[in-house]
Formats: sequence, structure tokens, C-alpha cells
Amino acid sequence: MNENPQHPVEALRYQEKRGLDDVPAYAAGLQFQLTDGPHVYIALSGTELVLYLGADLALHYDLKGRLVKVSDHEQFWRRSLSGRVLHSRKLTAEEGGGMERGVLSDGDARTVVQQIQPHAIAVFEALQDAGLVFELAKPSAAEARQRIEPVLRLAANFDEPAAARDVQQFQAIYGRVAVLPPDQYNALVLQATEGCAYDGCTFCGLYRGVKHRKKSVDEFRQHIRDAIRYHGEGLRARRSIFLGEANALTQPTSILKDFFHVIAEQLELPPPEQASSGVGASWWLGDEKRFDGISSFLDAFTNTNRTATEYRELRNAGLRRVYIGLETGDAALLEWLRKPATPDAALKCVRLLKECDIIVGVIVLVGVGGHENAAGHIRETIRVLNEMPLGRNDYIYFSPLVVYPGSQYDTQAMSDAVTPLSSEEMRAQEQEIRLGLRFDTRRGKPYLARYELETFVY
Ligand code: SF4
Repeated sequence: MNENPQHPVEALRYQEKRGLDDVPAYAAGLQFQLTDGPHVYIALSGTELVLYLGADLALHYDLKGRLVKVSDHEQFWRRSLSGRVLHSRKLTAEEGGGMERGVLSDGDARTVVQQIQPHAIAVFEALQDAGLVFELAKPSAAEARQRIEPVLRLAANFDEPAAARDVQQFQAIYGRVAVLPPDQYNALVLQATEGCAYDGCTFCGLYRGVKHRKKSVDEFRQHIRDAIRYHGEGLRARRSIFLGEANALTQPTSILKDFFHVIAEQLELPPPEQASSGVGASWWLGDEKRFDGISSFLDAFTNTNRTATEYRELRNAGLRRVYIGLETGDAALLEWLRKPATPDAALKCVRLLKECDIIVGVIVLVGVGGHENAAGHIRETIRVLNEMPLGRNDYIYFSPLVVYPGSQYDTQAMSDAVTPLSSEEMRAQEQEIRLGLRFDTRRGKPYLARYELETFVY
């Protein structure tokens, strides 16, 4: 992290690209120079406070004053509510290009908070000086100061003990959030269930040891209240509601409708007649009560007899996105993984969801079944994905298999002489599947991306 940002001679790099007048979302902003320090550019929007220091350092806070992101010229640190910090760094051409990502140790995560807080204090203290000269202000210096100061005070007070208290509150409400689909990292998670209803797939240890149970309606109502209080103003930056944990959609439709009803008591969802893809940012961005819909995971082997009518009812009650772990299109491989679904069941489920205007995310496990099953995995996954009526608002995620020593997958792979793919071979496998995909031009192309479980933080 750059602790001593160089003084820029002229305009700050961030300001050139994100000037106060160029970004309509910046409701208030100020620029000035710290005594014997860098120029500071502060921008407040309906979702965050950003402090740009010198040429390269940017500090992002949510509106409750939590540090959420730090970036400099070539790397950034994303701090999650659980206190975990994901560090990402651009690799140089000599290093092969691309990004290197890793979750910091708890100690290093605390160091990020420790190192950043003095910058926020320095900016806050400078702003207390009545004689401070502003180089830029929006709308006026007095008004900007008045709007920025309360959030900046929270940011300046966000030291290590405050961060630790915040993490404790998070854990008291959530325990932990094991995983979310990548486009849902910014969701408000609400946990109607705990653990996985099946918990038997050999490759998945996300919920091992977590007893599966559903919350009562009253318990869920209280959980939502606690979550809303905890997130506070930070909710203004959150787009959708993610119904957890694991496969919460396993619950019967009548129970899900009760859960959705309880959500709607306290939060606002888009009107049923609004197309799933048509909920724009103007509906939710900067609003602490509004969300663009409910999202959740679903397994193709549970509630296989749910009808289109039931899905429509759930959609009308707020369901907008469903994520299905296809894993592979190869039925025999799926059986070997002890996932009691069939690719045909996943296909049927996706068709039903699309018929009901629900956005779908399909997750494929890259490298699963090793070299021995690779040909079938690639061929059948391409076949099944090509039969799914996916379009431009849907997602296909490629999740590289992570094998933990001693896990069920590891033991079974050893006894069946299944040899793992290297990370380069996994990239090649993902590429081969991508190259085999064909999409209907009228429906458009879904969003294709990697889904790295190891770098998930919430
Ligand atoms: S993959 Fe899904 S169904 Fe299988 S154990 Fe994990 S959460 Fe449960």
C-alpha cells in the first residue's frame, strides 16, 4: 500500500476520470491540499464516500463508515463485512499478465484497517479548519462540507477495535456466508435456512457439519430486522436480496411464499409486471429499502415437481434470479460425484424458469472427474448448455474444482485412479467448453465468467 502518496503536480489521476461534474452520482465533493501532504479529493454519492489521496490512493467507505475498498495504481484490497480482505494485483507482462488474487490472513486484514485509518483522520481533521482553502467544491463548499462530514467522521473512527466490533455484530447475525454467485457479492443476504438439505456431493464441503434447518417465520422476520439494523446506511449500495443458505429454494412453495411475504413487510421489491431484466439501477441505487429482486441457489433434484404456476407465484412475490449447479452435463460423472440430479432435470428446470421470466445462472465445475472423464465432461456439458434457453441476461459460470486433501472427492479420486487437471489444463478445459457453446441470436449471449470459490468474501 502506498503510505506516502506523491504530490500530484496538477489534477489528480482519479479526478481526471471521475471529476465531480462528470459523475452525476457524486452529490457532494471537495478538493483541497493537506498541510505538508497530498491533494485530497472527496466524493460522496448515494452509495459511498470515496477519499482520493494524491495520485494513486483511493479509499472507499460505505455510508455507515465501514472501509470497503482500498486501491492504488496496480492493486486493490476489498474488505468484506466478515472482515476478510481480498487482495488483487495486476500481474506484469513478465509475470504472465492477468490478476493475482488471494484472501489475506486475519492479521494482514487488520493491518489494512490500521494503515488506512490515519489517512481518514488526517482528512477529517483538515476539514475542521475553518480557514481551509478548497480547490473544488460541489455543490458549494459549505453544503459539501455539511453533507460529507458525518460520514467522514464515521470513516475516521473506523479503527481496528471498531472494525472488530462490526465483525462481531455481523457474525452474530449471519454466522458466516459460505458462498454467493459472483454477480451477487453485492447482495443483501437474508438467511431463511441454515446448511444444505442434502450435503452429500463429494466435491462440496461448504456446509459440512452445519445442521440443516429452516427458520420459523418469526425467526426470519427478526433476522431481517437485525440485518437491516446492522447494514444501516450501507444498504443503499446493495442491489438485490440473496435468500440463503445453500439451497433455500428447496423449501416447499408455500413456505417460500411466507418467507417472501416477510421480506416484503420490511423491504420493497419491483412490481410483478416489471420484466426481470428491466429493473434498472434507478429503482434501487441509493435507496436503503428497495432491491431489484430476490435471488437464490436451487438444486435440480429438489422440488422437481414444482410447476410453472408455482414459479410464477414466486416470481410475482419477488423471485428474479436462480442459480443452478449443473456441475457437468455428463450423467455418469454426476452420479460419481454423488449429486442426485441428472443433467436432464437441470435442463427441465432451466426451461421452466425461463418460461416464467426468471434470470438463470448455471454453474459448471471445471476439471471435475480429472483426465479420465474430461472428454465426456466437455462434450456433454456443451450439449446440455446448448439445449438450455439461456439469453443475454443469464449467466454461465465456470468454477475451477478445488480439492481439499482428505475430502470425499479426494478419497474417491484416489481409489478410482482419477488424476487431477493442472490449473493450465483447467483453463484449457474451460476454453474448450466455451468454444463449443452456441447461442440463439434472438435471445443473445449470456454472461460467461469464472467463479473462484477460494477468493469469495462477503
Ligand atoms: S453442491 Fe449443493 S447440494 Fe451438493 S452438497 Fe453442496 S450445497 Fe449441497
